[in-house]
Amino acid sequence: MRVAVIGAGFGGLATAIRLLAAGHRVTVVEGRPEPGGRASRICDRGWQFDTGPSLITMPELLDDLFAAAGTSSAQELKLRRLDPFYRISWEGEEETLLFNGDRAAMIEQITEFSLADAGRYDDFMASSRSIHEEAVLVAGNRPFLELGGFLSLVPKMAQLGALRSVDGFVGRFFREPHVRQAFAFHPLFIGGNPFRVPAVYAALAYLQVAGGVWYSEGGMWSLVEALARIVKGGGELRCGDPVTEIVRRNGSAVGVKTASGDFVEAEVVVSNADVVTTRRNLLGLNGRVPRLTMSCFLLYLGVRRKFSQLQHHTLLVGNDYRGFIHDVTVARRLPASLSLYVHAPSRTEPAMAPEGGESISVLLPVPNLGSGFAWSEAEEPLRERVLDMLESPNGLALTGLRDSIEVEHRWTPHTFRDELASPQGNAFGPEPLLWQSAYFRQPNRDRDVPGVYYAGAGTHPGAGIPGVLMTASVTAELIRRDALDGRL
Ligand SMILES: Cc1cc2nc3c(=O)[nH]c(=O)nc-3n(C[C@H](O)[C@H](O)[C@H](O)COP(=O)(O)OP(=O)(O)OC[C@H]3O[C@@H](n4cnc5c(N)ncnc54)[C@H](O)[C@@H]3O)c2cc1C
Repeated sequence: MRVAVIGAGFGGLATAIRLLAAGHRVTVVEGRPEPGGRASRICDRGWQFDTGPSLITMPELLDDLFAAAGTSSAQELKLRRLDPFYRISWEGEEETLLFNGDRAAMIEQITEFSLADAGRYDDFMASSRSIHEEAVLVAGNRPFLELGGFLSLVPKMAQLGALRSVDGFVGRFFREPHVRQAFAFHPLFIGGNPFRVPAVYAALAYLQVAGGVWYSEGGMWSLVEALARIVKGGGELRCGDPVTEIVRRNGSAVGVKTASGDFVEAEVVVSNADVVTTRRNLLGLNGRVPRLTMSCFLLYLGVRRKFSQLQHHTLLVGNDYRGFIHDVTVARRLPASLSLYVHAPSRTEPAMAPEGGESISVLLPVPNLGSGFAWSEAEEPLRERVLDMLESPNGLALTGLRDSIEVEHRWTPHTFRDELASPQGNAFGPEPLLWQSAYFRQPNRDRDVPGVYYAGAGTHPGAGIPGVLMTASVTAELIRRDALDGRL
């Protein structure tokens, strides 16, 4: 079959690779000048920044994808396991927690905060492993087209404690607030509020410990390049020409039309673009807009000196963490207290910055634009607050950071809205709430238009590179089955 894939994010590239491997003729049409989507790169005077994702987890999913293309992770990438994965610091406090996958080291770290909590580490790992193996992997590898399929999983999830919030689940094991935060913050990586997303996402901490956190030499961009290379090898990758319409004949998709006026004829259209935008703008359908995730303010700073106190990944938790999450995701207003994530790949790979410098990306979750949040007024004062916090002895004590900035770039809610077609400038897709997961998420096959499928953060199982790679295999398998059943 001829397949048109809209978008060359990880979801689109991975689906294209799987469909090429199945023998289809695939054309990927990307609106931006380069592939990668959220995982783009900025290069400026020797500094290189990954714009979005920075942590590689579940590398076995990459192994599986490369194997489908007849190659391997070892051939395509230079992966390094990080140790520690990251350092967690708390505003105004001396103590830090170095998160890694070593049991003895983790127990030692937790003991610094609470002996009792350290004694419950093994129980936490065992319970979150059960969630990972019995809920996440079971549910994540199949489509949820019928309500019955979802309902049949509910008793098991209830038994595993996976239906309560991540924070509530983690609080059963870790009572000391710092330890609890350190094991419960992970849903933030996919836009989830740890106080309200279900504990299926508690498995994120487990899978980091079990499978490691990895870095690919050349940054996340090296992974995009590797996937794009494979797509170009067997199919076509067109960039810089956004799709404006999914064309239908007798109700079924027959291809896509692009801004330049091209028509790409196809029996199957897979959209990796935002699911709300695809249905509303490319298919002209009305429908309920799900609750969308927060946005992010990203500062990419090329500095001309070293900051050896930074780890490759550093989290700085503000003094009102719960209030911060509430402000950003529930009240949707400018947060009174800030919590930051800092990525400094030049700590691991000095070539990501000119000699003697660092490449530093700072991520601050901010409200999306859905509540009428006036970003333009917020931006400059927020930049100053972020830099103050990084420089402050109560923050990360990066003394002299401001003065050493040589290049600066930003991604804001406007970037997510205007360049990545996220309707509310949301940085991720629909929020991973229970009632927006599995059957209740945009299914991998469109319910209204035959021939239209989805891959990427907005469909099942969801956001994050592992989730998105799983959407690609679920969707490719669904297309295979639909073709055999005569549906296509
Ligand atoms: C700041 C940030 C940090 C993150 N950190 C991590 C992390 O450390 N680890 C992790 O695993 N995950 C992380 N994530 C999540 C992860 O990056 C995303 O879930 C994933 O990259 C999404 O991939 P995607 O293919 O679904 O979408 P996208 O990357 O958004 O790709 C969609 C593509 O579709 C294109 N497109 C849209 N409309 C059209 C159109 N009309 N025509 C043609 N093309 C179109 C877009 O230009 C884009 O290239 C992070 C996300 C963000 C925002």
